[in-house]
Amino acid sequence: MSMKKGSLSINSDNIFPIIKKWLYSDHDIFIREVVSNACDAVTKLRKLALIGEYEEAEDTNYRIDVIASPKDKTLTFIDNGIGMTADEVNEYINQIAFSGASDFLEKYKDKATDDQIIGHFGLGFYSTFMVADKVTINTLSYQEDAEPVFWECDGGTEYTMSTGDRDVHGTEITLYLNEDSYEFANEYRVKEVLQKYCSFMPEEIFFTNADTAKEETEDVVETEVVEETTDNEADGDSTDAGNTKSEPKETPINDTKPLWTKHPNDCEEEEYKEFYRKVFLDFKEPLFWIHLNMDYPFNLKGILYFPKFNSEYDTLEGTIKLYNNQVFIADNIKEVIPEFLLLLKGVIDCPDLPLNVSRSALQNDGFVKKISDYITKKVADKLSGMFKTERETYESYWDDLSPFIKFGCLKDDKFNDKMMNYILYKNLDGKYLTLDEYLEAGKEKYENTVFYTDNEKVQSQYINMFKEQEIDAVVLTHNIDTPFITHQEQKHEDVKFTRIDSDITNTFKEEVSEEEMKDATDKLTDTFRKALENDKLNVKVEKLKNADISSMITLPEETRRMQDMMKMYSMMGNMDPSMFGGEGQTLVLNANNNLVQYILENPEGENTKTVCEQLYDLALLAHAPLEADAMTKFIARSNQILGFITK
Ligand code: ADP
Repeated sequence: MSMKKGSLSINSDNIFPIIKKWLYSDHDIFIREVVSNACDAVTKLRKLALIGEYEEAEDTNYRIDVIASPKDKTLTFIDNGIGMTADEVNEYINQIAFSGASDFLEKYKDKATDDQIIGHFGLGFYSTFMVADKVTINTLSYQEDAEPVFWECDGGTEYTMSTGDRDVHGTEITLYLNEDSYEFANEYRVKEVLQKYCSFMPEEIFFTNADTAKEETEDVVETEVVEETTDNEADGDSTDAGNTKSEPKETPINDTKPLWTKHPNDCEEEEYKEFYRKVFLDFKEPLFWIHLNMDYPFNLKGILYFPKFNSEYDTLEGTIKLYNNQVFIADNIKEVIPEFLLLLKGVIDCPDLPLNVSRSALQNDGFVKKISDYITKKVADKLSGMFKTERETYESYWDDLSPFIKFGCLKDDKFNDKMMNYILYKNLDGKYLTLDEYLEAGKEKYENTVFYTDNEKVQSQYINMFKEQEIDAVVLTHNIDTPFITHQEQKHEDVKFTRIDSDITNTFKEEVSEEEMKDATDKLTDTFRKALENDKLNVKVEKLKNADISSMITLPEETRRMQDMMKMYSMMGNMDPSMFGGEGQTLVLNANNNLVQYILENPEGENTKTVCEQLYDLALLAHAPLEADAMTKFIARSNQILGFITK
């Protein structure tokens, strides 16, 4: 072939600066592009051989070699796949066959920022110009009588094409790295990138450091002159030191048949665990996993692992690795994977994903939405299935799963609808009940109210009261429970969640009329307001069945939630929190208790003020920790009281 010169078609005047600018944050991606092209080339030839279109040599060993030379500052990729004829180079490379790239460039010319794009939009081969001043292609097509082609381009808009010297089918691409990109001639850097993008590509990939390989070969020649070094066969790669018979078999850097590509029936439990350790470097065992395997109406395979979650959901961080035909795309693409599933760890391979679009376009893509719905459904099915057939196991995982499931219910309505009946609530005896089970058990006593404690220690007095009256309550102590119960109330309109210190319900008191208590309430309000020097104090007198309880604080559920919310959003700014502390609270006094009776009978007694203060503080203490100042006074007063009784 005579030397040919030409200009790259399409608006190539501006393509290189754009490639450089856009892919800036993902510089290393060119390795993925070139290696995956090489894999495709090999896979294609394999297929041609399979259908009898191509007769392969007996000793064909399909492979891809990545060879770095730190000395020469080059990076070379060699495959023994289908190769290209001169026409094909023209068509696929010169005419810049990056499908859709010109449209893409037109559309995003001005507004594209690095992270808007997934980085896989078919710029493929040309991404090498991010890191190379010059790129050469040496290729020979598998077709009979094909002529080798040599192509060279220095990153401008001109290329040259001439006859090449490759004598084995396949393609060799050499990058002469630019000054800013010498890192890609470094063995460790290249291996790292290969690990990231190519770990599961479907053809075997080998890495060689050309410089050290050469030194080793020279050493061998010097010290063992007698031993003949065999020349490398197949791809003519003279730097590939691995094929001499005396050396151990090389190991590829990748696993060509990752576990997710196998049928779930063919996978052993230990394989799943091993894969999990290897991919996520997490040596804690996962709780369980879901193997996704779908061919129709779209192709999707993957494994989702449920890790052991920590106690606080905001510190949880999972990783979902997204692949396209075993080529790594990126971690945690929210546009494809529902946000709450990102708490899990897993791999998803979906060859049908339209990755040549921007992220915002992905988000609005109906097909992507279907994929995302499918994954959500599978997760919900797995969990509900486990509830139905292995309730005990499900319960044993519940504490770990609960933040994840609740987060999912908050974030995804469909997930919520599927999971609603399989949410468990731990009761005061440590048993796990569904909402229906809890309500059914207490239907005579508390109808549609779910009593809960969010702090078993602080609320122990109330818990004891509940236990005495055999009224059940559930334990909801996680951060996520606050938004979760509000959400559940919206979903079950007739159900109300009430913290156990919100109100004294009829079960705890004797049946007396308001009238009967009115006089006592008036009197005690007066006495307490005076004693505590607080004329806003709400006091209510009740006859509690348990005479040992003297006083309690109640705070209506709604008011408390409001206050909690205000605290959470720190809307109070620098205001003194004690200003809000007492708002909405009621001091409930038990008319059946001796101390309360004492105050009723001795409103002006010598010790009345002290008893009032002490009862109030005790009630507060059982409700929430005291403020520093109040605590100091409480301790001093307690000592004083002990002084009285030991006099
Ligand atoms: P894409 O891979 O998205 O089609 P590329 O720019 O990466 O875009 O490659 C363009 C075309 O060049 C490929 O579709 C393929 O036909 C051809 N090609 C690239 N690399 C190789 C290779 N190593 N062997 C054979 N053909 C190749």
